[in-house]
Amino acid sequence: MAGKKQTVEIIALQCTECKRRNYTTSKNRKTMQEKLELMKYCKWERKHTLHKETKVK
Ligand SMILES: [Zn+2]
Repeated sequence: MAGKKQTVEIIALQCTECKRRNYTTSKNRKTMQEKLELMKYCKWERKHTLHKETKVK
């Protein structure tokens, strides 16, 4: 199978405090080369925490 090189990647956003993966999103590797870090709501801790990009799977 010869496919085009995939530039959009599915990633998970992991809470840096409880280490749960609360969100999945996609990013374009060509335009977004640095790791994503976002303040997101963690439903387990019921507050906003820093979430960082991790691999899905
Ligand atoms: Zn959390």
